[in-house]
Amino acid sequence: MCGIVGAVSPRNIVPVLIEGLKRLEYRGYDSCGVAVHQGGELRRARSTSRVAELEANARSEEIIAGTGIAHTRWATHGAPAVHNAHPHFSAGPGAQAGASGRIALVHNGIIENHEELRSELKSRGYAFASQTDTEVIAHLVHSLYAGDLLEAVQRALPRLRGAYAIAVFCR
Ligand code: GLU
Repeated sequence: MCGIVGAVSPRNIVPVLIEGLKRLEYRGYDSCGVAVHQGGELRRARSTSRVAELEANARSEEIIAGTGIAHTRWATHGAPAVHNAHPHFSAGPGAQAGASGRIALVHNGIIENHEELRSELKSRGYAFASQTDTEVIAHLVHSLYAGDLLEAVQRALPRLRGAYAIAVFCR
């Protein structure tokens, strides 16, 4: 079972997100990651090693911001690899797979109808950078976004079958 942390603050929240992940390490995980809203764009660091390595990566890549989400993953769909680690991004139809764009999302659990949704989103021009069921949710939320993130998420959830929790933010 993985872990999700999210935070918003006027100060840099990356140390808070990392500390949150450290507290969740005992639950077990195969990879981890953090995404923030920094300088008008979404940025992330991910690792298939320990949270301590993620912390070092985030520091060396100067990931510093007041809004972010973080995740420890226990893979169910897609190998434990950096490209499958959360957070996942959606930049919209026609964008390069994995491009940072608008939506950042982490997910705990399983989406049973991910194949059907993946086919639908691919046919609408969304490119996938991972084998996860999670990236499907990021693109689905993007496809329903019309200026109000909460509304987009509320419209996306009835389309998902399975047991899950998510944290999502948008640029
Ligand atoms: N099903 C998702 C994945 O394989 C989330 C797994 C989890 O709960 O960590 O990435």
